[in-house]
Parts: sequence; C-alpha cells; structure tokens
Amino acid sequence: MMAKHTITRRKSRQIRVGSVLVGGDAPVTVQTMTNTKTEDVAATVAQIRAAKKAGADLVRVSVPTIAACEAFGEIRKQVDLPLIADIHFNYKCALKAAEMGADCLRINPGNIGSDAKVAEVIACARHHGVPIRIGVNAGSLEAELQTKYGEPNADALVESALRHIEILKKHNFEDFKVSLKASEVFMTVQAYRKLATLIDQPLHLGITEAGSLRSGAVKSSIGLGMLLADGIGDTIRISLAADPVEEVKVGWDILKSLHLRHRGINLVACPSCSRQMFDVIKTVNELESRLEDVSEPIDLAVIGCVVNGPGEAREAALGVAGGRPNSIYVDGSIQHKAHNEQLVDELEKLVRAKLAERKATA
Ligand code: SF4
Repeated sequence: MMAKHTITRRKSRQIRVGSVLVGGDAPVTVQTMTNTKTEDVAATVAQIRAAKKAGADLVRVSVPTIAACEAFGEIRKQVDLPLIADIHFNYKCALKAAEMGADCLRINPGNIGSDAKVAEVIACARHHGVPIRIGVNAGSLEAELQTKYGEPNADALVESALRHIEILKKHNFEDFKVSLKASEVFMTVQAYRKLATLIDQPLHLGITEAGSLRSGAVKSSIGLGMLLADGIGDTIRISLAADPVEEVKVGWDILKSLHLRHRGINLVACPSCSRQMFDVIKTVNELESRLEDVSEPIDLAVIGCVVNGPGEAREAALGVAGGRPNSIYVDGSIQHKAHNEQLVDELEKLVRAKLAERKATA
C-alpha cells in the first residue's frame, strides 16, 4: 500500500461548540451557513438538516434582528447540530441568541460599542458556556486600519483581529476562535500564518466571497490547502455562491484530499479516454449519486482500462479495471468479471456489502 503523508497540526487550545470540540486534538470540523431567511423556520431547518446529511459538523445562522433571534430559538429546538449565531453590531441580538440556545456567538467585540455592552455580552457568553468567534473580514476592516495600511493586507487583518482579541483578554475570556478572511488567497494565507504564531486559540479557516461553485471551490482548496498542509486550521467553511450542501461537500473533499478526515466514498477515477472499455464518467456520476447516503469511509476505484486500472484497483477496497468483460477487484485482487450493463449495480452492491461486513466485524 502507498504510504500516506501525515500532517502535524498546530497545537491549539480546545473549545467546545455545543457537542462538538474545536481545536486541540479534535478533528478539523466542517461548517456552513444557512442562506434562507432565518425567520422562515421551516426553510432554515430543512437547510440545516440537508447540511447535516452532507456531513456538516456545525452550522451558522444569521440573527440580524430580535425577530430572527426568536426564530433561531425555534430552529434550535428542531435540529440537533450545534448552531452558531452570526451577529453584527447589535449586542442585544447576541444576548438574545445566547438565551435562545446558540452554541457559539460570532461577534466582533470591537464592534459592540461601549465597554458596558461588551462586558454584558462576555458575561452572557460565560454564563451560557458558549464561545465567541471573532470574524475579521478584509471587506469590513476598521476605517482607521484602512487609513494606516492604505489597503487591506495581511498585517491589517491580523492587527484587526488582535484588537478584538485584546478586548476579550481584558475580560479574561479565552474561549474564542478567530477567522481572518479575504477573497485574495495569498493575503488570507499570510494573515493566518502570522496569527497562528501569535495566539493559541483555534482558527476558523475560509476564503471569503470565494465565488461560484467551481471557481470558489478551486480558490478555497488552494488557500485552505496551503494552510491545512501547514497544520493550521481547526474548522473550515467554504464560502460559495451555491447551496450550503455544496460548501459541505467541498469542505469534506479538501479534508479527504489531505487525509485529515475520511467520510463516505473516496472515488478514485480516471479521466477516461478512447481506451476506456466502459463509460467512466457516466459510471462515476451514477455511483456518486447512488452512494450519497454513505458516510463511512471507503475507497472505490473506477478506471477505464488496463493501463492504470489494475494498479489503482488493487490499492482501493473495491475497484473496477476496464476490460472485456471488466475486472472487479475486492481487497486488492480480482474477484470476478462484470459486463458494462451490470457495472453500476454490481459496484453499488459490493460497496454496501463491504460496509455491512465491516459493521458486523467491528
Ligand atoms: S486508465 Fe485507460 S481509459 Fe482511463 S484515462 Fe488512462 S488510458 Fe484512458
């Protein structure tokens, strides 16, 4: 078997977001954010459940008004995933969201206002045992920092974060995580690398406003990939102009590619060419959609011909190498042959049988 590279993660302090641990030796978590109207409880609950099914560990929900806080309370009762309440400026929303069962408050202490209001929010977070996420964004840097640095850059992002952190530390509040997002990959990476050396709190990674499904996934994979490969990052959110379920799927694909976490089918497929002995693309798409419910990790190789087929299929738990008929591999050796028209059914059956066998012997 091929040796797998192991990433040594930065040692961060651990915090708890509801039932989920973030930082320390906890696995890197995948989160997303709802884009429904929070007041529309049914739609928001449906979106959170879909995100959970796709593998989300945490979900963030905007609570811009007190009415949204009330809805948040209702949503909280209907889902079992830890929820992060996203608040900007309105400290009353932070207090209300915590009271309504938020598992984490995303609020920047520097934006809350007077010392008394800051103290009230921190006391409330402490009372409910919920952490705070400081979220610095290049698009909303303090005017003063924009003047100082001339334009958003990594140093400005870090200085902004340190100002917010300072406020929490002044109140002896250490239970927080930080994000430093920009839509420019290098700026984001540089900022996180710098902050990672200055604090020990967990870091929430993301490239903000990354773009559409494809371009955003690429940009996020590059930026987050560089950081995660360095061992930096305790929770990730892929910001896409797309369904939150897609954000979760891309998040998982990034973690799977780096062997940081494993979930569901890891499809190893060739791009196909004129040598293919069956329709590789159609087979892969069909299998991906049929096996969407699988959350246990399993490697499945789908390779169009004998050029790379036997090598890849032998490495996976299950695989097919194109031929006439095709060779089906189980645990590294050919188990039987299958004709093209049986291929998808056959592979789906084998995956499910393999998982059932593992469960029975666990
Ligand atoms: S494995 Fe075979 S079918 Fe697939 S891309 Fe390579 S040569 Fe083409």
